[in-house]
Amino acid sequence: MVLRLPWQGMRLLLLLGVAAVVAAAPVSGVVDPLVLGQVRDAAMQDVWAYPQLAALTDRIGPRLSGSVGLEVAVQQVAEALRGVGATVTLQPVKVPHWVRGVERAELVDYVGRPKSLTQSLHLVALGDSGATPADGLTAPVVVVHSVEELATRDVQGRIVLINMPFDQRLADNGYAGDAYGQAGEERFVGPMTASKRGALATLVRSVGDAQFRLPHTGVTAWEKDQQPMPAAALAAEDADLIDRLAAAGPVRLHLVLTPQHLPDAESYNVVADWVGRERPDEVVVVGGHLDSWDLGTGAIDDGAGVMAAAGVIETLARLGLHPRRSIRFVAFTNEENGGRGGKAYAEAAAKAGVQHVAAIECDMGAGRALGIQAAVTPAAMARLKAVVTALQPIGATVLLRREGVVGADIRPLQLAGAPGFAPVLDGRHYFDYHHTAADTLDKVNPENLRSEIAVMAVLAYFLAETPDPLPRARVQDEE
Ligand SMILES: [Zn+2]
Repeated sequence: MVLRLPWQGMRLLLLLGVAAVVAAAPVSGVVDPLVLGQVRDAAMQDVWAYPQLAALTDRIGPRLSGSVGLEVAVQQVAEALRGVGATVTLQPVKVPHWVRGVERAELVDYVGRPKSLTQSLHLVALGDSGATPADGLTAPVVVVHSVEELATRDVQGRIVLINMPFDQRLADNGYAGDAYGQAGEERFVGPMTASKRGALATLVRSVGDAQFRLPHTGVTAWEKDQQPMPAAALAAEDADLIDRLAAAGPVRLHLVLTPQHLPDAESYNVVADWVGRERPDEVVVVGGHLDSWDLGTGAIDDGAGVMAAAGVIETLARLGLHPRRSIRFVAFTNEENGGRGGKAYAEAAAKAGVQHVAAIECDMGAGRALGIQAAVTPAAMARLKAVVTALQPIGATVLLRREGVVGADIRPLQLAGAPGFAPVLDGRHYFDYHHTAADTLDKVNPENLRSEIAVMAVLAYFLAETPDPLPRARVQDEE
């Protein structure tokens, strides 16, 4: 989710207060509830989006910015949307091109090590990591448990390990995004901070909870003009192993990371319009991001989100329904390691004078849809009652009001005043697989995908059909 950088939005979400509101006031601007019900039912009968997702993940697979995978995915998604009758445009975006190289680490010394024995560790480079020399580097390890603790330790000439656990209790109770924002701090700013204090390399504990000895990648941030240092995520088990050994005495580690920063590459946002019957220039955006990390096949992050959003257009096309305003699907490029797609879309739309009446983004996995989070004015909440009522038969009745940014790619649209929305999804297991090699199609339940389509389709139709658009929302930028 989230640029500025993807993680910053997560931090925003963490900071924002959430208030549940059940609206009771009368609705201004009626949308026929029977039609909303038809949209819901048609979405729940969808047989288009899942095969599209299967084609994206099984035939193409990983789609990191600059990769051939992303390039062909752009064409595939454009073709799919043309196939349902939408008007498709490819919007050029220059994206960063970072590629993973060799990644290897061994514990070469610690108290009680049997002579001549080394232990291999499971790790992956973080996106935007710098490289070690080709034959690696060997240095003592300093273990800390928070970014703040770095300030209290001498890390000069050492490899830093930041071992901050992910709070699965939060995720189990519906706060997966908050758990990610908290534990993610070590990945977001740990390497930048350790580098400024003279460390040679930074290892972080993977941000996620499942105990499968799986490392989770993700982008890390550097300050402007800061030389990227070698930075990698260890499997949680290996972070704990080093922590235990370091408690007994000095630990030395050999690390090889050889990623490369290549020149920027050409990519595209896929923009597909379902043109409105009365006010085609007023637009409701519904989207997700098409790029993914390079380890898995980007099924839950964010193939499911992008195909659920595409499914909104396919559902309306199947019903032959054109609401008053246009609904515009956007498959954003480069969310994961740059956020350039979201920025480029907003800039081009501003130049073209597009009026965004709302923006919906789906980027929290593929869990069952439970409802909607809405960054709208308090008064606008009452208007959304019609949407919640229509979603009642599928149990997606949660309606949460947010004060801030609800999606990385729609952030610029929200800052310009468009009400922002995201489906609320069951995120209990999202961070088991997030940014790992295990982000694959089998993690997506087709019925859950249908529920995501249904929530977004009913919401998008309502926002595009209601006679008066929802009031502009003022979103704070906590940057
Ligand atoms: Zn994502």
